[in-house]
Amino acid sequence: VVARLKSSGLLRTKGLIGGIWIDAYDGKTIEVYNPANGEVIASVACMGEREAKDAITSAYDAFSHWSKLTALDRSSRLRKWYQISIIRYHVILYNLVIEHKEELGQLITLEQGKPLKEAIAEVVYGASFIEFFAEEAKRVYGDILPSPLPDRRLFVLKQPVGVVGAITPWNFPLAMITRKVGPALACGCTVVIKPSELTPLTALAVAELALQSGIPPGVLNVVMGDAPNIGKSLLESPKVRKITFTGSTAVGKKLMAGAAETVKKVSLELGGNAPCIIFDDADLEVALKGSLATKFRNAGQTCVCANRLLVQEGIYDKFINAFSNAVQNLKVGNGFNEGVTQGPLINEAAVQKVETLVQDAISKGAKIVVGGKRHNLGFTFYEPTIIGDVRNEMLIARQEIFGPVTPVIRFKTEEEAIQIANDTDSGLAAYMFTNNIQRSWRVTEALEYGIVGVNEGLFSSEVAPFGGFKQSGLGREGSKYGLDEYLEIKCVCMGNM
Ligand code: ADP
Repeated sequence: VVARLKSSGLLRTKGLIGGIWIDAYDGKTIEVYNPANGEVIASVACMGEREAKDAITSAYDAFSHWSKLTALDRSSRLRKWYQISIIRYHVILYNLVIEHKEELGQLITLEQGKPLKEAIAEVVYGASFIEFFAEEAKRVYGDILPSPLPDRRLFVLKQPVGVVGAITPWNFPLAMITRKVGPALACGCTVVIKPSELTPLTALAVAELALQSGIPPGVLNVVMGDAPNIGKSLLESPKVRKITFTGSTAVGKKLMAGAAETVKKVSLELGGNAPCIIFDDADLEVALKGSLATKFRNAGQTCVCANRLLVQEGIYDKFINAFSNAVQNLKVGNGFNEGVTQGPLINEAAVQKVETLVQDAISKGAKIVVGGKRHNLGFTFYEPTIIGDVRNEMLIARQEIFGPVTPVIRFKTEEEAIQIANDTDSGLAAYMFTNNIQRSWRVTEALEYGIVGVNEGLFSSEVAPFGGFKQSGLGREGSKYGLDEYLEIKCVCMGNM
């Protein structure tokens, strides 16, 4: 696979500054591992403060022309990333990213571990943000306001915020980049991306495709390596006007504090602690399918994965029985193997965290129903797990598990379910399964969460706003709301008319 990716020209190992692929100035590199077998896939440039500063300068210089292009021009260049090619008399719509979805999917599986089918689905999902925001570029409307005085006219202009620092995680190495870069570029911003050091290869491949599609040099830069120092450079530079981040709550808080120094705009997509509530009146099949999908996607490594299953007492035994059967049938293995639905966890630290949470729960009286230990495949594989008799005070119900472990909490009443669901500092996604329409509205309104799935376990799309309440973050990504995060509002008052 690596050899094939090399020959496709998508296996890039240098950083991208001002349209040029460059090594770290001191020649340092870091290794990227395949989490399924511990093998080194590639060594990539390990950059720091100096490279970050140069990337900021090139993004700043590129801003002056990129922001002045017409919206139509930017839109069509973005669309070339989502390209129209005319072959003979047929107009074939294709996307440079979509066209390479197999290779990009393979890269994701290699460095991140998720099953190939899921990886290719991430490419399609990620590409949808490029297409959507290429279209939205043409819809950054201003406003004309009724003036309170007869000789004045009032207008609102929307303008790009400037250079954007985008810091992204490893769990969606492609989609978390396009969800930020798509709207940023559409508005006229330029970007310095700092992908996760665990999964830089996908980011570099996407940047290569952006270059191929004619996005001008400097508009999109990629630096990776020493995350704290690159982060510091982005925060300290007055040229960077916006920080957009997806990752842990701890790092998000540091970035928010750092951004205060130069009063940058900030968007944060941080950790979740999603409750998935199954009421007695749920359709068992629908609840089963939905809760499996939300819990075991990417082996539990997404911030919207169900972190706690809240099951009402009347359906508890029936549900756990059916859920256990389904979980025992999940196929664990290398993401390249046919039929595998559960890949490895990202690294040893991730497995240790899961082990600590499971041990803590058991020591406090929770009971393993299925799984509960490392998988016999070794490396970072963990058994798909269900733990019953969990209480909301246990660590496993308070921290983000980020692994294939399902803690189950039993509840009696709707009020109790809402109380348990909201008893957390997080507020990203919540799910509920019920056939009672009044209850579905009542509970939706009571949940302190940015996204609510009703009888549905998967909701992410380019047209829907994604983001959290409370300590799960600030701002929204995707959808028409996602555009505002990269825009400033300018009010113009013309007097003496
Ligand atoms: P996760 O637990 O998902 O790895 P992190 O918050 O540690 O979440 O990582 C998300 C992104 O934040 C990664 O790109 C990582 O390199 C980056 N990062 C981690 N620490 C810092 C920091 N101090 N400053 C800037 N970026 C950071």
